[in-house]
Amino acid sequence: MCAKNNQTDKPSLIKSVLTSRCPHCREGALFIYPNPYKLKTTMRMYEHCPVCGQKYEIETGFFFGTGYISYALSVAYLFTFFLAWHLVFGLSVMDSSIFQCLAAGAFTIVLLQPLLQRLSRSIWIAIFVHYDPEWRNKPAQPKTIEPAAN
Ligand SMILES: [Zn+2]
Repeated sequence: MCAKNNQTDKPSLIKSVLTSRCPHCREGALFIYPNPYKLKTTMRMYEHCPVCGQKYEIETGFFFGTGYISYALSVAYLFTFFLAWHLVFGLSVMDSSIFQCLAAGAFTIVLLQPLLQRLSRSIWIAIFVHYDPEWRNKPAQPKTIEPAAN
């Protein structure tokens, strides 16, 4: 028998990041609205995880750091895009292929922004909040930065 106990199985980190799940329990949604292309509500997040109660913005301005992740994802995407374009169509400054590639890259990265922004937040919070296998037995403890003792 290889019966699995789904209550104690640790959900995948990568799957929880890619599906924008709470990093503490890996079940609760980060974002209120599932459709990232509804632009007025793309970045609306729950204050706390609807499943385990983990606070998402663990300190004021916490999500400003997602800019670093978003930048890295954008650079990685564009590098991959240019490489794929070079392999499929070729790149040259002698014809307009480099400009077509730049225009296509810029256009597609703008189209991908809602997904990249959500993924950036999901990665950023997963860096600071870790999975707790005992989350069902105890309430989430918001991680805060303690003021320095003088
Ligand atoms: Zn949670």
